[in-house]
Amino acid sequence: MGPVTDLSEWLPRAVGAVDSWMTRFGQFEAHPSMRVSDEALGEAFERLAVRLQDNYPFGHPRYVGQMVKPPHPAAVLGYVTAMLINPNNHALDGGPATAQMEKDVVARLATMLGFTDHLGHLTSSGTIANLEALWIARELHPGKAIAYSTDAHYTHSRMCQVIGVEGVSIPTDGAGRMDLNALEAELGTGRIGTVVATLGTTGLGALDPLHEIVALARAHETRIHVDTAYGGFFALIADDSVDGVASAPYAAIAHADSVVLDPHKHGLQPYGCGAVLFADPSVGRFYLHDSPYTYFSSDELHLGEISLECSRAGAAAAALWLTLEVIPLSDGGLGQVLRANRRGALEWARLLERSDALAPYQAPELDIVAYFPKHQTLSAIDAASTGLFRAAASLPPSQQIHLATYGVQAEAMAARGHHVTADVAQGRILRSTVMKPESAAAIHEIHARLESLAR
Ligand SMILES: *Cc1c(COP(=O)(O)O)cnc(C)c1O
Repeated sequence: MGPVTDLSEWLPRAVGAVDSWMTRFGQFEAHPSMRVSDEALGEAFERLAVRLQDNYPFGHPRYVGQMVKPPHPAAVLGYVTAMLINPNNHALDGGPATAQMEKDVVARLATMLGFTDHLGHLTSSGTIANLEALWIARELHPGKAIAYSTDAHYTHSRMCQVIGVEGVSIPTDGAGRMDLNALEAELGTGRIGTVVATLGTTGLGALDPLHEIVALARAHETRIHVDTAYGGFFALIADDSVDGVASAPYAAIAHADSVVLDPHKHGLQPYGCGAVLFADPSVGRFYLHDSPYTYFSSDELHLGEISLECSRAGAAAAALWLTLEVIPLSDGGLGQVLRANRRGALEWARLLERSDALAPYQAPELDIVAYFPKHQTLSAIDAASTGLFRAAASLPPSQQIHLATYGVQAEAMAARGHHVTADVAQGRILRSTVMKPESAAAIHEIHARLESLAR
């Protein structure tokens, strides 16, 4: 099975497995209203294929832009096979097999993150997973505010609005991490009920110092939610080694009250796969008002009774389950994917340090690299960044490089020691996620081409 599309042998097996199982229940004919001719489908499919060409090549090593990449073929195979049955993981009756797979993979995620006990489930996204965590935060500390850093995902301020809770934004330091002095000052007011720490900010991949936040929050009887939607799987390589990531913040997840991570970001899954986990299973009582807490410790829990969403694809659980059977949550499994990404990001950062045309914005803590064309003023950096972004994407397809831009304030540039004239309050720089292991081998080519375009 190859990295991107080699499923030609496997997809017929998916159809075969489901067909032979269904046949046991007796043959039947499709209703005439359901039949379409091969000719009509073929023509429509051609139009689909043409329309889909209006896309960026997310799976290509030289696509180093947004957090988008195709799922692993094992995930596609797991998803398609289960989708042919289309179980609904809302309830055990909707899909007993995939509900069991969901509990199984969620338990593996809990172990990876150091939770000894847990209540959790998959969600359709990190946004919904965070909404659930913040909702539980409100139920446990009614009337209190929720604090998160200015670099936290926008979903936190938005969801605070949705659930009617005051959101408090804590400044970040010169590395994009939550400023602990500012946090301590807020905690001192007594109005904060829950602190959201982000491990792997969406913009820069920065790690809030969770190990220090835990002590501060505990001293103020404040809950801790960890949003590690992007960075969570880096727990597999959090060993402070040359191609690993910092261990201390990841080890502290074990002391958090809840955590969110997105298998559809670094878990090789198609969209529609987030996860939320709570350290204390008794929070299940907030989901179902008339059931005693003991119910939720039972093995027979229905996922729909501990989830805000009702219908959810059982296929998402099957996809993650099959993927983790062949690429397990270990250093030797998914960890090797993440180490390759990390090496690519670090190599790029080294090249940027030595470049006369491009400068690194800050050192990558995960696999996100931020950089900018060297110019005197922030407005010139903004213009050159957007120019480079467009020029790289407009090369012939066999040379194209796809990047993303990132908005920065003049003060944030200064906080990182970049001496540029702040002739505008904010501007755009460039940002690349090196989230495919194949990109590591393309970093020299990418960097050289961007340098020559920048000159
Ligand atoms: C991506 C992301 C989210 C939102 O998750 P979706 O799956 O896109 O809804 C939340 N927080 C962080 C840190 C993220 O990176």
